[in-house]
Amino acid sequence: MRTWLDQLRTRLDAARQPGPFFFRDDDAGWDDEGLFSLLHIFVEHGVPLDLAVIPKAISAELASRIRKLLEIESGLISIHQHGYAHVNQEVEGRKCEFGPSRSRSKQLSDIKAGNRLLTDQFGAMVAPVFTPPWNRCTSITGECLVQSGFEVLSRDATAPPLNIPGLVELPVSIDWLKRWHGVRLDINEIGNALAVAASGSFPVGVMLHHAAMNEADRERLKELLTLLASHRQAQCRLMTSVISELRMKSSECRSSLSAYHENSIQSVA
Ligand SMILES: [Zn+2]
Repeated sequence: MRTWLDQLRTRLDAARQPGPFFFRDDDAGWDDEGLFSLLHIFVEHGVPLDLAVIPKAISAELASRIRKLLEIESGLISIHQHGYAHVNQEVEGRKCEFGPSRSRSKQLSDIKAGNRLLTDQFGAMVAPVFTPPWNRCTSITGECLVQSGFEVLSRDATAPPLNIPGLVELPVSIDWLKRWHGVRLDINEIGNALAVAASGSFPVGVMLHHAAMNEADRERLKELLTLLASHRQAQCRLMTSVISELRMKSSECRSSLSAYHENSIQSVA
């Protein structure tokens, strides 16, 4: 019997080396019960999940529940900043909290205020990652993030890289709730998109929104996590682990390249 995961399974079976996957769930602070339903699924499957938390939306009670979970599942669950209040600040054009109409000082002030709110609740458990609401921001946002101590920016894979020194970008490539002309992709289209993403050379990032997911979404997600958790060629990681591994690989690559150059120089000499 054919299933929506067949293409992804075939890609993974054929992969020469394990590929990294990560899951980013946005809008923690909204729909707490939906959030904990999703968290439960990830913990149950032993698959890591990065929560993008809206600083202004998080209640003391929710913070306390998440803190308890982080203490038990620190290797599986991570939290980071999702904008500030998740409010559209643009008068026209696409929705954006950190968009072209915001001055540098306003952006910096919101980023720092959001960071303070999260640090007050979670201390050092907050990862130095920033996901802008609607996956949109400007290069000024990127500069403000570096200035505020952030190391990673996560948007959509279609966003042109900002190329800001000191800021690594780790985009998501799959939007579980993507709509095309107002209609949600069906599950086979998501399966196809996962298979395509898994055949590339970049980490496969899946974006979720617990507040908009229904029971059928959660059932399909369990099927995906069951496959990824058991397949030898899939490595599910927290976003900061994906970045650490990429950094390690690029430094290994650089050191083997410099060893190659040194050998070449010696052999020329
Ligand atoms: Zn959001």
